[in-house]
Amino acid sequence: MLLNIHSFMFSRPLKYLLFVGFFTSLALISGCDQAAKTENNDQNETNPVLLISIDGFMNEYIDRNETPNFDRFIEQGVQAEYLIPVFPTKTFPTHWSIATGLYVENHGIISNSFYDYELEERFSYGPPADSPNDERWWGGEPIWITAENQGKTAATFFWPGSEASINGVQSTRWIDYDGSVPNVERIDSVMAWLDPSGDVRADFATLYFSFVDSRGHSYGPNSPEVDEAVQEMDELLGYILDETDQIGLSENLNMVLVSDHGMAELSDDKVIFLNEIINLEDVDMVDWSPVAMIKPDEDKTIEIYEALKANEEHYRVYLREDLPERFHFSDHYRIPEIIMIADVGYTITTRPFFEERGVIAGNHGFDNMAPEMHTFFAAKGPVFKQGEVVPPFESVHIYELLTNILNLEPAPNDGNADELLHLLSN
Ligand code: AMP
Ligand code: ZN
Ligand code: ZN
Repeated sequence: MLLNIHSFMFSRPLKYLLFVGFFTSLALISGCDQAAKTENNDQNETNPVLLISIDGFMNEYIDRNETPNFDRFIEQGVQAEYLIPVFPTKTFPTHWSIATGLYVENHGIISNSFYDYELEERFSYGPPADSPNDERWWGGEPIWITAENQGKTAATFFWPGSEASINGVQSTRWIDYDGSVPNVERIDSVMAWLDPSGDVRADFATLYFSFVDSRGHSYGPNSPEVDEAVQEMDELLGYILDETDQIGLSENLNMVLVSDHGMAELSDDKVIFLNEIINLEDVDMVDWSPVAMIKPDEDKTIEIYEALKANEEHYRVYLREDLPERFHFSDHYRIPEIIMIADVGYTITTRPFFEERGVIAGNHGFDNMAPEMHTFFAAKGPVFKQGEVVPPFESVHIYELLTNILNLEPAPNDGNADELLHLLSN
């Protein structure tokens, strides 16, 4: 595990040399920052907030499993009937919307992997890509930066986008993503950062767990393997609650437990062979499935659209500007001319690719109004009501909720603070 300063040193040697060269003046500046922070904090004392993401987690996972720690958490706090993620329901767009309160067309992270024709680069989170660390990709202001900018201390142990600076600012503690870091180690670090007698005393922290989502992709949402992962997550939640007690925060910590999207079962007989509908040589594929983002060659848009429209079975196809308003997915230069959305459970692929690879057992990315994509939200702590289940709401409101309970001035966003006031105890 590398702390932020180490990753800074190893991944940016040139900047690091500059950093060393100007060490004295930087130290002075950061000394001033610290003084400003302390002063600001004294005037603006709030209870700390821990935001936890369990990737690809659905309400029904709790309903069909023994989950004593989730049950305890929910009894002590509020739970949403379900949470409505943003479209498309992929990990990077959805997490960045939770963090910024922006719909996808307003933050620009249009998928987990996509091509940007202005930057002439592909955004991709998998190795060897370095795009998650690069500020140019990320539109909007995430909650940890809002906190830092207003004198609070933020510490993130993983969150999509948390590795990038925003206008040069980063969390006081952040970590380069490494999926192999054991979950207990993530929790221990975050607890040390939240510890009121520690040296960080974070006002805001995040935790992120990916294994329930991975199990859902490999075995499908209705598998015993997912149930096993859910029970493992329940034990981790128990550990988080115990450790919160250990550092003396069980009465003070506001915890928000959230997921980014659900999971749908796929099958080998629910496939759409795109190469048999259009000539793939006439287009660039910005992204593939379950939302195909298609950039036709010049003057080919209408021809390609009409071919897709004529064969519209098990998917819906739209010209970008005709996408229903509710998707909030038209108004960004990264979104290409044609958007094709597979029906839940279907995979958009090509016959050769399918014959070589088949399809995975589970996936997400589909229409955010589909029940299979709906997801989980619960929160507990001194600001939240106890023992209440509230109607479903959209994940873009969470940023406003967090700024409200941390007493921060929100950056411009698409959420509405009033939408979630009924979660709060006063
Ligand atoms: P998805 O492909 O939409 O299922 O995304 C889930 C995967 O995203 C996880 O299994 C991780 O491999 C990856 N992931 C999550 N957070 C990060 C991050 N901060 N940086 C890079 N990859 C991440
Ligand atoms: Zn995800
Ligand atoms: Zn996933």
